[in-house]
Amino acid sequence: MSWTHEFKEALKTNEDLKNFFDQDFPEINYPLFIPQVFASKILEAGPDSALWKQFLPNEQEDNQTLGRLDPIGDKVHAKNNQLIHRYENRVLFTPTTVCPILCRYCFRKNELSLKDDIFDQKFTEAKKYLKENPSINEVIFTGGDPFILSNEKLAFYIQEFSEIDSLKYLRFHTRTPIILPSRIDEGLLSILISAKHLFKRSLIMIHVNHVSELTDDVAEAIEQLTNEGIEVYSQTVLLKGVNDSTDALFDLFTKLSDCKVKPYYLHHPDEARGTMHFYLPLEEGRKIVASLHNKLPGWALPQYIIDIPGGEGKVPAFNPESFEFSGVLINRLGEKIKIN
Ligand SMILES: *Cc1c(COP(=O)(O)O)cnc(C)c1O
Ligand code: SF4
Repeated sequence: MSWTHEFKEALKTNEDLKNFFDQDFPEINYPLFIPQVFASKILEAGPDSALWKQFLPNEQEDNQTLGRLDPIGDKVHAKNNQLIHRYENRVLFTPTTVCPILCRYCFRKNELSLKDDIFDQKFTEAKKYLKENPSINEVIFTGGDPFILSNEKLAFYIQEFSEIDSLKYLRFHTRTPIILPSRIDEGLLSILISAKHLFKRSLIMIHVNHVSELTDDVAEAIEQLTNEGIEVYSQTVLLKGVNDSTDALFDLFTKLSDCKVKPYYLHHPDEARGTMHFYLPLEEGRKIVASLHNKLPGWALPQYIIDIPGGEGKVPAFNPESFEFSGVLINRLGEKIKIN
């Protein structure tokens, strides 16, 4: 089945879910979207699984008293031209609000479902902004999910960006290879190969949270990319009840490494409204990450990162033995030790 067909046939209503999973789900105020091939994997994994918890509705999503509507301050840095410019050298480019699936824990779920104005289609303005700001050398395709765009549209954007001299790097943040591995078709492969030649580096960051997402069809899709010399990295969100254990993350990062994917970031969850049942304290995440340092080499370990609420940006979340700028070491017990 072609990926566009899979996309059209996705489960979108409670009625669809009920028919497919043969059980009732709570009616919630956020939209639903699960392609059927992936829904079969969820069904097989069962109700206690990482897949089920990430993608099937839970009544706790409608708790509107906890969490923030714009948890990482995208609005503060939105340029109203498909760009979010928070860091000097790089911008997020949001050409679509569409995703291959709707993740229940999504930190953008409030913005995406409200069709927020930061996702307006204003490409000419975006291009102008990039030309006028030559300190920007990297464009990061995000969304939504950029691989939901047609090959024609992707090729168009890549060509347009390649004409801006100051741009050296291109990046794609995507969940599509996990959800619709059939999307990695000949057309997309050749576009990604051409991007590799048009820019100094062109990187794909796959969003993946649990080893059970890396089924054989997914591993084969990833292998098609790595076989062509395309650089593939991963991003993972730490989620309560899904992957908040040493074993779950060890298995995930080991499998990714075996697929020649470099784990890039492990995100501490953002405090987004409607997702707080996935939230866990920083202290718990830091303990898990500390134990991973004993089991995996640096090249198989992502950086544990937290996005500071309100638009301050990302900072490392793991520093059990880090230094203050003055050179004071804070050890695992929280004691301060002066090093010269
Ligand atoms: C996360 C993010 C980036 C990318 O940051 P890296 O640390 O380079 O992965 C860029 N812009 C914005 C606004 C971001 O939130
Ligand atoms: S794919 Fe990413 S942006 Fe889309 S719903 Fe999932 S977490 Fe949100």
